[in-house]
Amino acid sequence: MMEQILFYLIIAFVVFEYATDLCLDWLNRRSWSHEVPEPIRDVYDADTFENHKRYRRVNFSFSQVSGAFSFVATLLVLSSGMLAMVDAWAASITLHPVGRGLLFFAIIGVAASFFNLPFSWYQTFVIEQRFGFNTTTRRTFITDLLKGALLSLLIGAPLMGGVMFLFEWLGEMFWVYAWLLISGFSVFMSMFYTSWILPMFNKQKPLDNGSLRDSIETFSLRSGFRLDNIYVMDGSKRSTKANAFFSGLGSRKRIVLYDTLIRDLTESEIVAVLSHEVGHYKLKHTLWGMLAGIAQTGVLLFLLSLFVTTPELTKALGGEGVQFHIGLVAFGLLFSPISLVIGLMTNGLSRRNEYAADRFAANHADGQALVSALKKLSVNSLGNPTPHPAYVWFHYSHPPLLQRIKALMS
Ligand SMILES: [Zn+2]
Repeated sequence: MMEQILFYLIIAFVVFEYATDLCLDWLNRRSWSHEVPEPIRDVYDADTFENHKRYRRVNFSFSQVSGAFSFVATLLVLSSGMLAMVDAWAASITLHPVGRGLLFFAIIGVAASFFNLPFSWYQTFVIEQRFGFNTTTRRTFITDLLKGALLSLLIGAPLMGGVMFLFEWLGEMFWVYAWLLISGFSVFMSMFYTSWILPMFNKQKPLDNGSLRDSIETFSLRSGFRLDNIYVMDGSKRSTKANAFFSGLGSRKRIVLYDTLIRDLTESEIVAVLSHEVGHYKLKHTLWGMLAGIAQTGVLLFLLSLFVTTPELTKALGGEGVQFHIGLVAFGLLFSPISLVIGLMTNGLSRRNEYAADRFAANHADGQALVSALKKLSVNSLGNPTPHPAYVWFHYSHPPLLQRIKALMS
């Protein structure tokens, strides 16, 4: 009885999430402006604007189709008892709970990748290609997939296996040690990501001496922020879109600029973008973000520990007894409304931090240069200049361009 209620709740949440996304997409689709908005007329001509609208129209239709496909596939998987079949198959190979759980996730992971493959292929080599965005070769695309799989095997599997082992060993109390394990791992990753993982996908080299480096150092002296590790990354290997980011803690912190950013922006614009990134660091957004993530993991693991020992959770998806791996999937689906609320809060906080980092940049570098950099970056990424407020509320981690410009100008 209870397992049936849980099953229907899970289905209801999947449907609810899909319906919400559809509504938001359509609201957003209807809010596209016909003309170039006033503040960005200097970077858009009417032709480019029309072309970008075509790009977004194609993307919109594509995401409707792919969204519908994955919605139907999710419903089929959940209602056909397919997860229990996968589990039975894993159990026929090993009855060890950790091995069985890892096999279960491996099969689901591989199946999901095969399902997504045609969609991401089409997105990259048909849509992005047609609008001149794509620079990914087929070879890069395939090796990226293989490297991603290797990483899941080398990092994801031991971590997941560790959590399952703790559950087998400690029962309900596993969550405390799992929390320590996952938090320790995420702190470790944030320190070593750019020096260990990123090199598998991209080449980075220190920024050459020259006038750009000089302007960056002048800024660094003026703002009292030591910037020794400035790297340039070959972002152009995959896309013409540009970016910059900050990573690491303490002496391992480094700033990474995409080569596309250096190509498209002037020196003062690059310094302005950089000072925005430094702003995130100085205002401790990086630190607080990490602490908030750790707290969130703790709460979720605690809740998981309360539910995962009830056999109804496993039975809701067609399994038998208490199976941690099936219970985890059911838990994830049942908590999707809460994840949605957490997502809303995180995005809201992140947008506030973006304004604060913009203000920092305006105070320590050049606000005008940041405005023109943001405009260029937004044109380059074919962003939608007039998203619907509800869509922003749900999906945007950064405020829309026009609002950032308005805040910087005031
Ligand atoms: Zn930012």
